[in-house]
Amino acid sequence: MIKSEQIKLLVVDDSALYRKLVEHSVSREHFTLFFAENGRRGLELYQQEQPDLVITDWTMPDLSGPELCQNIRGLQRSSYCYVVLLTSHTEKEQVVAGLAAGADDYLTKPFHEGELLARLGVGRRIIQLHRQVEAKNRQLEELALTDALTGLPNRRAIEQWAVRELNGAARHGYPVCLAIADLDHFKKVNDNYGHDSGDLILRGFADVLRTSMRKSNLCGRLGGEEFLLVFTHASPQDVLVAIERVRSEFEKREFVTPKGVVKATASFGAAGFQGSVAPDFNEILSRADTALYSAKNKGRNRVEIAEPALISS
Ligand code: GH3
Ligand code: MG
Ligand code: MG
Repeated sequence: MIKSEQIKLLVVDDSALYRKLVEHSVSREHFTLFFAENGRRGLELYQQEQPDLVITDWTMPDLSGPELCQNIRGLQRSSYCYVVLLTSHTEKEQVVAGLAAGADDYLTKPFHEGELLARLGVGRRIIQLHRQVEAKNRQLEELALTDALTGLPNRRAIEQWAVRELNGAARHGYPVCLAIADLDHFKKVNDNYGHDSGDLILRGFADVLRTSMRKSNLCGRLGGEEFLLVFTHASPQDVLVAIERVRSEFEKREFVTPKGVVKATASFGAAGFQGSVAPDFNEILSRADTALYSAKNKGRNRVEIAEPALISS
């Protein structure tokens, strides 16, 4: 439920008398009120204050009510604004023109106070619905970018981030490294201790990543028992030290499962870029994957960096 104090109402009318009448009518509604004495000022205040509701007169010397509506609808913003036109035109064509210009409702002058309040009440309900939908959308967007098991960013999120970082690195000349982490013999862990224990260990690895990575570096789950770490502004030596910290931290952890205490390890492959033309994300990823393959071949629970560590372009 949205409190009425949080609703901003902009009243646009060149008649001081009507501004006063509206102010008086809504005085018990606890709106935050703004007044404009012409259409241009109305538009200015609209952009400045981002009101939720607008009541606008139809006939004004500079910008008419319908023109103001059109302008409002032309300006993109995330929240909806409910617009009521106040008109002395009662002909149907004009009402149609007003609604076509983007008004949500209209009221004829002189207006009935109760009717004005009732129509603003409709506006308030519409705004509340919009706010609920927006909140839900934000939640869904976040979910679409989050891995449900670990709470880490998922592949889609981390790829978006990595591509942005690669472009930023190309523009400003700093290095970016990607590292793939892959848990060792994880199939056996599942087979021996059960899938739930496997999940516990995946969450544990995510926890190690969260606690041992610097905030400026991002990590996420690529899928399965594979994770991606993105390091920016760091030399390959620094990246090596950071990954080594993750590796040794994970190796030390003990996981208590119904079938006993389990320890697990992970292998890492890293590859990076420093240059002026951003490379394809998949190209760096594939070089990191080759390094990972070599870490697996060399006995697992270790970090390998591509040779050369940074390609340039
Ligand atoms: P390697 O050391 O060569 O990486 O061996 P591995 O067994 O880890 O590799 P493989 O790719 O053969 O097996 C990966 C396993 O990861 C198989 C699959 O059951 C498990 N796995 C993938 N996703 C999940 C998950 O969400 N939960 C659990 N518990 N296991 C998963
Ligand atoms: Mg794997
Ligand atoms: Mg594995």
